[in-house]
Amino acid sequence: MNTPICAFDAKIGILCPKCDAKLKGGSISKIDVDASMKLVKLAEKHSEIDEIDLLRAFEVDGDYVLVLKTGDPLSLRANSSLGKLVESEFDRKVWMIEGDGTDRRVLEDLFFPLKLLTVNIVWLPDGSKLTRVIISGKRTDNSHVDLGQSKRIMKDVRGMDLIVEFEKKE
Ligand SMILES: [Zn+2]
Repeated sequence: MNTPICAFDAKIGILCPKCDAKLKGGSISKIDVDASMKLVKLAEKHSEIDEIDLLRAFEVDGDYVLVLKTGDPLSLRANSSLGKLVESEFDRKVWMIEGDGTDRRVLEDLFFPLKLLTVNIVWLPDGSKLTRVIISGKRTDNSHVDLGQSKRIMKDVRGMDLIVEFEKKE
């Protein structure tokens, strides 16, 4: 497992001078450090978690967002008990997205298990842009996806403004 801090630091729970300097300099955050330590702790007991690489971690409105290496969110989702394990270790909702995926890929991670029909860019008259996401089907109460929170995550993590619509109106 790779994390924003050294594997050894994550294991013992103390930052070496190099990682401490990164934290003080702002190239990594307290959330990165906290998430690294929690994931490494889980990886000691669960070898599947040792396979993933954490690139960054964010806190958005009380939830954690783990930005993982390409393919990792998919492999974690394939084993739903691992996802639950991560959430119980973090003691809050944990979103997992790809760090270097395309925008569409990251949106698919965020809205999973909903399916995206289209993703396109809408230019506003003032020159700013919005990303318009149309989700297949219609909105149901059991979609388990907090759309407002998905928008905040895209804004905080990727700097992207979203409009989310459903394919079918009620
Ligand atoms: Zn270190």
